[in-house]
Amino acid sequence: MTYSKPLIDDIFGGIRPAARALDKAATTIQGWYDAGTIPQKHWNDVIKTAKEFDHHLTPDDFFPVKSPDASSFGYPFEKRHCLSIDDFHRPDIETLLSLGEHYLDLNVQKNPDRSVLKGKTLINVFFENSTRTEKSFELAGKRLGADVISMQIASSSVKKGETLLDTAATLNAMNPDILVVRHGSSGAPALLSQKVSCSVVNAGDGMHEHPTQALLDALTLRQAFDGQIDGLRIAICGDILHSRVARSNVKLLNMLGAEVRLVGPPTLLPTDADRWGVDIFHEMKTGLKGCDVVMMLRLQLERMSGAFVPSKREYFHFHGLDRTKLGYAKDGALVMHPGPMNRGVEISSDIADDPDISLITQQVETGVAMRMGILHALSEAQDRSKGANR
Ligand code: ASP
Repeated sequence: MTYSKPLIDDIFGGIRPAARALDKAATTIQGWYDAGTIPQKHWNDVIKTAKEFDHHLTPDDFFPVKSPDASSFGYPFEKRHCLSIDDFHRPDIETLLSLGEHYLDLNVQKNPDRSVLKGKTLINVFFENSTRTEKSFELAGKRLGADVISMQIASSSVKKGETLLDTAATLNAMNPDILVVRHGSSGAPALLSQKVSCSVVNAGDGMHEHPTQALLDALTLRQAFDGQIDGLRIAICGDILHSRVARSNVKLLNMLGAEVRLVGPPTLLPTDADRWGVDIFHEMKTGLKGCDVVMMLRLQLERMSGAFVPSKREYFHFHGLDRTKLGYAKDGALVMHPGPMNRGVEISSDIADDPDISLITQQVETGVAMRMGILHALSEAQDRSKGANR
């Protein structure tokens, strides 16, 4: 329940300036930082002095902002894992998105409640490289007060030939509460989840699924379109064949009532895509027509054996998003990309960096909040099931 440091830092800019302004010893302010709270006898003083710094505090600011229970959104979230969008029903998704929204608001407040995951251990196990997702889970776990460690794969036993199941047994012996797993093979997080006693979150498995990316994309869309995903026409474009993001997004966006299109060359479309409940196009001109959102995907060269596209230049010419191709979509259409981007291959920098049309930075920001919501919901479901088994 620590709020004193962010509050003091925000108003005064740190211990020393706060000590000077409040006429207190620096060790006193340090004591507030350490305790996480400010003793009530100092509240009036802080409120008065903060006014001179243009911050109008009320006594409420000295209580951490509490996070609601997942169940307060009207539906008891009872899932143990987050492995695939298929595991969730619409009310689960609504609960998760509402929690994500709550954390988007909370992350910009001075005194958020940091105790939701206090005493819990989160282990990030990334068998495949990641920057965004791993850091996002690390930050999400820390912001909720969990003990977080991230396993360095290059130096892990896996490189020394340990099997996935040995790794599961080792991790289980560390008694984590939540494992966040990324693996190059489809189904690996699901297999791990059967061998450990904690919750498992799939942070991307091979070409299969990336459910937390789809959830953060949905939350980004809700923010951008005033809560309304139902009825949006969304084109997912590019290397769909190798994309777990596309698979999770198609399932989730369909569930939320969007009209989903896939746009890509035949070599980069899965052969069973006609059974995904989407419309399929091979040309950007027809595929983007009337779209509210254009979601570009990375050309995943590391998953390609052989030539799927003639050359990157030619690929950009026909399938890369630039101003001309974006012009085929609806006026004011917005652009997304899960990252990392290949600039000049699937998207031009000009589009990616235009804050009026690109949601790419928002996706990263929303990612942390959405993952806080997911960790919160899983942790609460764990506590409830432990309580029920007592
Ligand atoms: N970061 C996303 C993933 O892990 C997309 C990508 O790598 O292109 O699937």
